[in-house]
Amino acid sequence: MKTPSYTWICHKCSAANPPNSATCECCGFPAMATGKQIQAEKPNLGNDRPAVHMFTSSDIFLFFPEIIPAAILAVWSPFWAIQLLLESHFLAALTLLCGVGASGYAFYSGVRSKQKYLAYIGVLGMLLSAGLALQLSQHVVAT
Ligand SMILES: [Zn+2]
Repeated sequence: MKTPSYTWICHKCSAANPPNSATCECCGFPAMATGKQIQAEKPNLGNDRPAVHMFTSSDIFLFFPEIIPAAILAVWSPFWAIQLLLESHFLAALTLLCGVGASGYAFYSGVRSKQKYLAYIGVLGMLLSAGLALQLSQHVVAT
């Protein structure tokens, strides 16, 4: 079998292999693979990945209908906070920013680590923070 006289990269697993090695040290894939062989391996690579990394927004949407108001809130809350500050509702603005910020982080961590409950707590936290901020802004009389 022909072997490369240079350091080569495996077509299947992308491992670097020393010169004159006929097969990949990592996965055993031949160095001089034909185009057909490489093509045959590509779909396998594609199938491996989703199992590991697929936890996408569509997955989240199935579980949490609350994510829609939470997402709107995440975008809208800075503007609302500025408005609250202008109306001297400092406590409400602070509650809103801290609550949405912390909840947003919890949601992000939950998605990253695939912990759906943490993500859900993040979503609920955002809605609760907004509700609390709304209460605070209505109870404090601006002078
Ligand atoms: Zn390999």
